[in-house]
Amino acid sequence: MTYLPALQKTDPQIRDLIIAEEKRQWSKVRLIPSENYASAAVLEASGSVLTNIYSEGYPGKRYYEGQQNTDQIETLAIERAKAAFGVDHVNVQPYSGSPANMAVYTAVLQPGDTIMGLALAQGGHLTHGWKVNFSGKLYHSAPYELNPQTERLDYDQIWKLAKEAKPKIIVAGYTAYPRTIDWQKFRQICDDVGAIFHADISHITGLILGGVHPSPFPMADTGITTSHKSLRGPRGAMMICKAKFAQAIDKAIMPGLQGGPHNQTTAAIAVAFKEASQPAFKEYAAQIVKNAKALADQLLKHGFRLITGGTDNHLILFETFKSKGILGRDASRALDRAGIVANCNLVPFDTQTPMNPSGVRIGTPSVTSRGMKEAEMIKIGDWINAVLTNAKDEAVLDRIAGEIAEFCKSFICPGMDPRNWADDAPHSAKNAEKQVAMSRL
Ligand SMILES: *Cc1c(COP(=O)(O)O)cnc(C)c1O
Repeated sequence: MTYLPALQKTDPQIRDLIIAEEKRQWSKVRLIPSENYASAAVLEASGSVLTNIYSEGYPGKRYYEGQQNTDQIETLAIERAKAAFGVDHVNVQPYSGSPANMAVYTAVLQPGDTIMGLALAQGGHLTHGWKVNFSGKLYHSAPYELNPQTERLDYDQIWKLAKEAKPKIIVAGYTAYPRTIDWQKFRQICDDVGAIFHADISHITGLILGGVHPSPFPMADTGITTSHKSLRGPRGAMMICKAKFAQAIDKAIMPGLQGGPHNQTTAAIAVAFKEASQPAFKEYAAQIVKNAKALADQLLKHGFRLITGGTDNHLILFETFKSKGILGRDASRALDRAGIVANCNLVPFDTQTPMNPSGVRIGTPSVTSRGMKEAEMIKIGDWINAVLTNAKDEAVLDRIAGEIAEFCKSFICPGMDPRNWADDAPHSAKNAEKQVAMSRL
């Protein structure tokens, strides 16, 4: 039977590109720490007829008729999320992480109020007060920085800055910080200066739900997370808060910022929370961290300088320029050429530019979803070193690309079935059947 038969008929160009993307995701070692593989069940919910309907409003309070099923779906997503985080209130309607942050700020800040987040160049997010983002234009931004010696959060320094800047909100939660966050310290600082404590756990939600990183909830006043990173859900986001902010936060997203919620995403978020409540998810989260440590150790053996010297979570930020004489952009291009997908990244106190910074950021959520363990991380560490010490040697890059494509054949990708690519399936049919059965777990 033809795979994606309707697309075959209507738009074979798009079909070919989707299949090419499936093959790319199968045949590469994907190390971008904000990416993952959603399960087959999450993909089914995301691609369902729930995309056909409008449900402006909230369960039981909609502007449109026809909500017999969507009210139940959204309620399930909300209740599962509340139980998972142990919080008073969750809103699952934000289209993605950035609008979720925007809605929280709209709910609790006035234009011109001071917002204090980690500087973008040191691992904060655009929406934490960066000058070209709405968050730096609408609000006054007083960013904190890492400690230049330890490259870690310096809570005393943050406290001192908070006393001076008197922010209305302090944002904790990052995109390139490899260490555990001490939420208690942020609570103390916020209490002392009278700021709202906002936790943006987008990167580490899976680790928190799996019990391998402490949770900021119910300590934090407000929070957001994306659903597509370590949580392994659909592309989407949610806002999390104490009861006293619930009404303001709901109003801020709808009617404040958005119209109808994406019901197909809401359903897939509910599925992701169901999956995350299973014992296998705890193992998954623990393995993400074990894998990151194994990969970090191997890079250290090869002489790379890791920011903060290692990792506590899913993410590694390492220096390529001073360690190996190759700038981040050249490094990430060479890695991609050889079958390892990563992104170049500023390192703390970088002297290079954001377009060609000194480092590379990698993470283990995706490879862990494929069932890779410590032994595979050692191999990947060796390959990264081989690529970055031979980045201009096309023959070496070719050889490694071949080795990685071969290596990747032995690992499933949740949500994908290689038998669909009949022309050049990477598996024997029998092996593939077993793999697919596993990927549906
Ligand atoms: C990914 C991320 C976001 C934004 O998510 P988008 O869905 O890309 O808008 C916000 N904050 C943090 C910390 C993130 O890692």
